[in-house]
Amino acid sequence: MIYKNIVCPVCGAACDDIQVELKEGKIEAKNVCKMGISRFNEITSPRRFKQPLLKFGGKLRPVSWEGALQIAADILTSAKRPLISIGSETSCEAHEVGLMIGEYLGAIVDTIDNGATMMGTQEAGKISTTEGQKKNRGDLIIYWGTNPLESMPRQMSRYGVFPRGYWTKRGRFDRIIITVDPRKTLTAKASDLHVQLKPDSDYELVSALLTLLHGKTPHNSVEEITGVPISVMEEMLEMMKKCNFGTISVGVGLSSSLGKYRNIEIAMNLVKELNNYSKFTIGVIHSHCNAAGFSQVASYMYGYPFGLDFSRGHPRYNPGEFTTIDILREKDVDAAFVMRADLLSQIPPDCAAYLAEIPLICLDIAPCPTTSISDIVLPGVVDSMECEGTFYRLDDLTIYFEPFLDSPFKFTQSNEDTLKQLFTKIKEIKNQVDIFPFTYGADPKTQNCFSRYQISSSQLSF
Ligand code: SF4
Repeated sequence: MIYKNIVCPVCGAACDDIQVELKEGKIEAKNVCKMGISRFNEITSPRRFKQPLLKFGGKLRPVSWEGALQIAADILTSAKRPLISIGSETSCEAHEVGLMIGEYLGAIVDTIDNGATMMGTQEAGKISTTEGQKKNRGDLIIYWGTNPLESMPRQMSRYGVFPRGYWTKRGRFDRIIITVDPRKTLTAKASDLHVQLKPDSDYELVSALLTLLHGKTPHNSVEEITGVPISVMEEMLEMMKKCNFGTISVGVGLSSSLGKYRNIEIAMNLVKELNNYSKFTIGVIHSHCNAAGFSQVASYMYGYPFGLDFSRGHPRYNPGEFTTIDILREKDVDAAFVMRADLLSQIPPDCAAYLAEIPLICLDIAPCPTTSISDIVLPGVVDSMECEGTFYRLDDLTIYFEPFLDSPFKFTQSNEDTLKQLFTKIKEIKNQVDIFPFTYGADPKTQNCFSRYQISSSQLSF
């Protein structure tokens, strides 16, 4: 049987034209890039978690679903200030329940993706566009600090560079491509102009472009700081002023270099001023499928896009204080729940060391460094393949997806369902704790994760 219009859950492009055929238990997918095909193969991989796991005697061992949920709820309700870290590889519906759990527990709820971009947007405002507009109108595309040929292969073939649009009938021949990157990437090699700036000099380069746009010449020292001759900046700016519809697609190379969210802010200001000459927009190349989703959901539910603290009963937002790395570095949380993200691989070593010390629950589909230090692992359902839901694409457009397979588990139908079941358990425990207060503790000698409640061995099914 062939399934059409399946959504790929790997990168921010969220391609929604995938064709899938099931042949003797194997999956054959069409219209999918190499990154996508590896995820489609992962759902039948023997590495995948098939049941909940609980750390016992220093090792993760199979446990019953009821037992795992009970202990996970127990850990979260016993913590004075838990951290709920929500990853981007799951649906907005799951994000919503994660946020509600955080509010109920008075937790910190955060995501590790997209923070700098959101802060830059808050400072300057974003003139955005859809990928469809880029396809139909875009005649100048600037890739800044990103290498989509390798990180989001189909963005260029579906929207950014090669497709024939309504006003770009000759496809690639109707477009000018500029890449701003310190590295000679494949995207840079395929571009008409490669602006090879020195690492961490993005802010200075955008400032110099703004100076030129204001009709003044920047100080000569900018050539030494950025490694880019002023003549190249002038050439780039002329292309930007003369195009009909230009767009800058920024990646983590811009938001994570020196200057962080200020780089995004000044790039957005440049785009604003370029609109005096031509239509110009800016967008983000998200490397994870629903990286834009958490910020959208958190914003419409609580008014803040990430780094939310509910410890006072109402949402507070202060990046640098309530964000994952800062809260772990200050040892300000005493338990964590990591959902669909390999948090351990993305944080500095001191934060990772503290994360390994505190009780940790993880929801994921396959082993990763974070699951290896977890006390409980809840098996994940693959969104878009095994359950329905919604992603936000890289241009903040909602993409609704329907599955072509059922959930492989009897005990849960989706990650949203898992979180709802966990939330029910948390409420039950909280109601009891109000009458009989206990505290959760891990046994440092045996490294066993245990519950304040008596769970029978049949429930744990060791
Ligand atoms: S570009 Fe991204 S969303 Fe599209 S098929 Fe490749 S990995 Fe999947």
